[in-house]
Amino acid sequence: MQTLAVVVPAFNESAGLREFHARLVAVFDTLDLDCTVLYVDDGSRDDTWTVMESLRTADARVATLKLSRNFGKELALTAGLDHADADAVVVIDADLQDPPELIAQFVAAWREGFDVVYGTRSTRAGESGMKKLTAAAFYRVMERLSHTPLPRDTGDFRLLDRRALDALKRVRERQRFMKGLFAWVGFRQKSIVYERDRRVAGSSKFNYWRLWNFALEGITSFSTAPLRLATYAGVLTAVAAFAFGVFVFGKALLYGDPVRGYPTLLLVILFLGGVQLMALGMIGEYLGRLYMEAKQRPLYLIDEAHPAPARGDRQ
Ligand code: UDP
Ligand code: MG
Repeated sequence: MQTLAVVVPAFNESAGLREFHARLVAVFDTLDLDCTVLYVDDGSRDDTWTVMESLRTADARVATLKLSRNFGKELALTAGLDHADADAVVVIDADLQDPPELIAQFVAAWREGFDVVYGTRSTRAGESGMKKLTAAAFYRVMERLSHTPLPRDTGDFRLLDRRALDALKRVRERQRFMKGLFAWVGFRQKSIVYERDRRVAGSSKFNYWRLWNFALEGITSFSTAPLRLATYAGVLTAVAAFAFGVFVFGKALLYGDPVRGYPTLLLVILFLGGVQLMALGMIGEYLGRLYMEAKQRPLYLIDEAHPAPARGDRQ
């Protein structure tokens, strides 16, 4: 029988985890597959780990993994995928915003021969207009800047075939923008549209500041266009400066040179200073990431790992 592993990263999700598991297992029962679920505790500060462990003792299809601290969703996901070994792997959030029932459709598409089947959100219930607007803007900017086509309105909720999973496991970069990496591996991909529900319990771990940094991560991981922007800005200012120089020099020849023009001088200095600092900042963004990458630290550390017993050993 073919195997399916579901990877669930969770950070402070104890309130909704049991309900999540009940809905997931109901889907398992409809599938003609050997299903397991791997819960990854991303250093939760509530009793998420206790809940995970009690789910594991009650159900032999549950595996658990505990990271040594909170590493963030991208790394929790990576840890989960590294420990998953199945013919197909599904990635899903623990807050029931991604309906587990959709997994049946993912599996159907996978059986048709698709290697990556991802959920595209048609609506996002319970999310503010501001969040929808910024999310939409982000996807448009990414489309412009990156050569890797990033599907719009698509989160991490998806199914990966073993081929895609193995390809992904070979990507060891530390600055991980997972949805970009999922797209980057390529293969035959299919989108399934769904309505994103609101959270069952708890609150979102991503505030605007975190989302902004997440967006920077996405852009710097998949594009060097901002670096080129500095070059163009430099060329433009140089051309403008030359034209202005000719004008000032000509004017001085024709009308003499009384000392005036303090406002223009100040304006030019401030403007150029601003542009230069901005360009430096952009270089700094990339340099900082290069620095983190060069350290070659492990991506995450495991505190405890409890794999699910093999199918034959389960009672
Ligand atoms: N998550 C995680 N580590 C973190 C933050 C979030 O593992 O540091 C998990 C979280 O428990 C959930 C998923 O990532 O299962 C998505 O998080 P959230 O619902 O807060 O994001 P949103 O849906 O608001 O984008
Ligand atoms: Mg959520």
